[in-house]
Amino acid sequence: MNSLAANLDQVRSQIAAAAARSGRSADDVQLIAVSKKQDGEKVRAAFDAGQPIFGESRVQEARAKIPLLPAAVRWHFIGHLQKNKIRHALPLFELFHSIDSLELARDVERIAAEEGVRPRVLLEVNVAGEGSKIGFAPETLRSEMENLLELNRVQIEGLMAIPALASEPQASRSYFVLLRELRDELESEFRLNLPQLSMGMSNDYEIAIEEGATFVRVGTAIFGGREK
Ligand SMILES: *Cc1c(COP(=O)(O)O)cnc(C)c1O
Repeated sequence: MNSLAANLDQVRSQIAAAAARSGRSADDVQLIAVSKKQDGEKVRAAFDAGQPIFGESRVQEARAKIPLLPAAVRWHFIGHLQKNKIRHALPLFELFHSIDSLELARDVERIAAEEGVRPRVLLEVNVAGEGSKIGFAPETLRSEMENLLELNRVQIEGLMAIPALASEPQASRSYFVLLRELRDELESEFRLNLPQLSMGMSNDYEIAIEEGATFVRVGTAIFGGREK
C-alpha cells in the first residue's frame, strides 16, 4: 500500500474509533479530504483508494482541478467564498461549508435563483472570538437567523467552525462544544433541523468527532504538507 492509501486507512480507523467513543457509527461521520494546494494526481490516487469527497478553498484552483478528475469525484467548498466567484462555484460543489455572513447568504440566494439551483450550505461560526473576523459571531447568528431562514433557495443544513490553531488538540474541545450547543439552541429556538456539524482538521478531528462532528476536514494527515 502506498503512503497516501495508508494515511487514508489510518484516518478512517481513527474516525471509526472516535465515532464509537461518541456512541455513533463510522458512517455518521463523513471525511472531507482537503485537497487545496495538492495536485490532481494526488486527488486521483486518493479517489482510487476509495475516498469520494474532497474539499477546496479557492474557486479558481478548483475550476482548474475539477475538470481533470473523474466526474464521480464529489467536491465541497470550505474556504471564504468571494461574491464574484459564486456563479462559477455553484455548479461545482455539492455543499458550501463556509457561508460566513448574511450578505453572502443573500448573494448566494440571488444567484442561485438566477441559475435555478438550490445550494446546500453550512453557516460558518466564529467560535474563537477576537482573533478572527471570519464567520458569524454566535450572537449575530441568533439575531440574523430569522433573515437567513427567509432565503428559500439556500438550504441551511448545519454549522461549521475553524477554531484558532492550538498546539494542544484538547484546547479545541471547548470550541467544538460551543458549536454543538449553539446548533442545539438554534434548533429548538427556531424549530429547525440542523443535522450537520463541520468541525475538526488534521490535528483535532478525533476530538471534534467525540463532540458531535458529522464532517471532518482533513488535509495534511492524508496528503502530507501543501505546496506554498
Ligand atoms: C486547509 C483547511 C483544512 C485542512 O487542514 P489540515 O490541517 O491540513 O487538515 C480544513 N478546513 C479548512 C477550512 C481549511 O482551510
